[in-house]
Amino acid sequence: MKNEGLEQSAAKAAALVKKGSRVAAFTGAGISVESGIPPFRGPGGLWSRYDPRLLEIDFFRENPGQSWKTIKEIFYDSFAGAKPNAAHYALAAMESAGMLHCVITQNIDNLHQEAASRQVLEFHGNSRRLVCLGCSMSCRVSQISLEEIPPTCRACGGILKPDFVFFGEPIPEPAGIRSNLESRLSDVFLLIGTTGEVMPACLIPRTAKANGAAIVEINTAPSEFTDEITDVFLEAPATKAMGCLLQALGIPGDR
Ligand code: ZN
Repeated sequence: MKNEGLEQSAAKAAALVKKGSRVAAFTGAGISVESGIPPFRGPGGLWSRYDPRLLEIDFFRENPGQSWKTIKEIFYDSFAGAKPNAAHYALAAMESAGMLHCVITQNIDNLHQEAASRQVLEFHGNSRRLVCLGCSMSCRVSQISLEEIPPTCRACGGILKPDFVFFGEPIPEPAGIRSNLESRLSDVFLLIGTTGEVMPACLIPRTAKANGAAIVEINTAPSEFTDEITDVFLEAPATKAMGCLLQALGIPGDR
């Protein structure tokens, strides 16, 4: 009776959210899988097909053309048409209903913003922006032609880099500081589609737990978080679990 289990868990999660004074969501690749974006890790993940070295910052600085060829293929050709799914919209609906303070996301796909979430902390940056390695000017990728790669800065001629975190780069501020702050201030944390393997992001929910937050986890299978910190586990795809949670919260789920 798995569905009954899910509904019961959703009811427990809803009770925590309603009781909470500050609720944060922490999302990972799993929430975007149903939008057609594969995760980086695991079987079928992007790193089984591409060389992660192409996203190392030192390699990129020395070989921007080579890195950009793959970057363009992954992030700007394949994912360009990805649209938010019901789980993204559900979080935006919770925020509108005053039941969610913010979304901290490890994803760089901009889908929370496209679903109209307003408070989004981009822990790993955003692929929809580019930043100049020469003068730090930032621009939207839609303003830039990717016909010729690597793309260069109109102001200084420097190489443009996607404004997400490459291997070897620090977490961008203020998103890192604000995410840490939320992990201390929130009393309920919803973990959605994140398995607790990526450092330092995986410390955020653990800090929340250490500061007394109740942890609601939504994943298709148990993760590193489940036994360690999770209070209520909704074992289901993000769209299904968030649909149940919205219903239990009494929020209309039709976007
Ligand atoms: Zn520049």
